[in-house]
Amino acid sequence: MTNEKAPQQLKDRIRAARRAAEGDPFLVGFDANGIQELITASSRPVAMCGASAMVSAFDTWARDRPGSIFGGGGRGVWLVEGSSAADMARDTLVREYADRTHGGVLACATARLDPARESDSLALLRLRLKNAKDEAPPPRVPLPRSRAEQCAYCRVRAASTTRRPPGAEAHSICARCDDSVERGGTRARTRHEQGQTLEDLALGGRVAAIAADGNSMGVFFAEVGSLMEMAAASQVVDAVFRGAHEAALSEIPEAPRISLVTGGDDILLFLAPDFLLDYVTLLAQKVHEQTRASSGLVTLLGDKLRSSLQRVGIGVGAVVAPFHYPASRLLEYAHDYEKSAKSICRGGDGARSAFDLAVLTSGNELTQGRQHCWAEEIPGAKWSDLRRRASALADIPASQLARLIGTGDLDDVERRNLFRYQVARSAPWQKWFQQIGRDWRSRSQVDEALPDERLVCLAGLERQRQRCAGSRAHG
Ligand SMILES: [Zn+2]
Repeated sequence: MTNEKAPQQLKDRIRAARRAAEGDPFLVGFDANGIQELITASSRPVAMCGASAMVSAFDTWARDRPGSIFGGGGRGVWLVEGSSAADMARDTLVREYADRTHGGVLACATARLDPARESDSLALLRLRLKNAKDEAPPPRVPLPRSRAEQCAYCRVRAASTTRRPPGAEAHSICARCDDSVERGGTRARTRHEQGQTLEDLALGGRVAAIAADGNSMGVFFAEVGSLMEMAAASQVVDAVFRGAHEAALSEIPEAPRISLVTGGDDILLFLAPDFLLDYVTLLAQKVHEQTRASSGLVTLLGDKLRSSLQRVGIGVGAVVAPFHYPASRLLEYAHDYEKSAKSICRGGDGARSAFDLAVLTSGNELTQGRQHCWAEEIPGAKWSDLRRRASALADIPASQLARLIGTGDLDDVERRNLFRYQVARSAPWQKWFQQIGRDWRSRSQVDEALPDERLVCLAGLERQRQRCAGSRAHG
């Protein structure tokens, strides 16, 4: 966004597109259906990276075409001349996306652009595109005739080729998984990322899966009043979220990660769990920072859009779980927690950004559904205080903490009695009270400080972080 030439370049591009279509300007809007499903179709992180590279390659192709107004994350708008050119453009886009993603579905809609009422034309395009998304056909999937023909990676499509990873046995897999793995490998090599499996990121046998996306985006895009604003707004949003994600990771360069940024305001990644809390805190901070930008493409936004941009935040969901769980399930779970985080961000007085997390320890939890829900506003004083208290809790034996939040064997009165008993007899607990500025001798202050599930959950991660900071520094 700091690119000084960007506003002029965008103006020039839109002027040229307008001129080329001035006889009878038509908008062609497109938005890929089921990108998340496409990316997580194979549980192998390398294939997920490859699938997101497929979408990026489509983006580049669509953006570089004459008449392109903007494009990214499987979405975009073209401007063409005449209704038959619009129909042709739609067919080309749908075919190209399907070819590049092995049957992926692109929703497309067209609308005549009335230069005197651009905002109305864009609203019509948005409405038609929404309907097209709802009515889009299911993806074309080559199904296996028997289990033996099933792709060993996605377990859905028919296998059509054989892949033999170094040092492993050969697998029969489908064309899409084969292409995904190939592209994922190339991407990892060019980015010098070593981790290609979740095991490479795991610490204490666990990884963190994170899903995040923008809050108040609908409100923001509803303010778009012209073609220029739409193009600028889309690129600004892309830059805010991509920029925040990259800036957050650059402050924890040593953190092992597999990043699957999908474009626009969507973020998906796997991270070593000891960096999770730092990443999430940094991500929200950076999103808030980046929305304050006032240079580059932001200068093309009207006052309403600019002030709306400054209210955009992020909802982040994460799950920390054993690395051998299927990666696609982990991301599905992270999505559930993202929704929970976003639920406290709605309405005028909701949080701007929020986080929700689950730590899964035993094998059954994936099938038992949601364990808890405690969305918390991030960043800010309350979040910092929570992290500070959690960090100080790291010295308390995990078994004591587990007892306090209970597995249902203690009622509230018994839990409080147990807590007072532990505090009165344990030096680490008394130290904790000192660290959080409370008096362990005061019954009311002890009652107030009784740790809840959220605090204990964060304490587990902080304990791991402190331990790892020590061992990573020494090894
Ligand atoms: Zn497959």
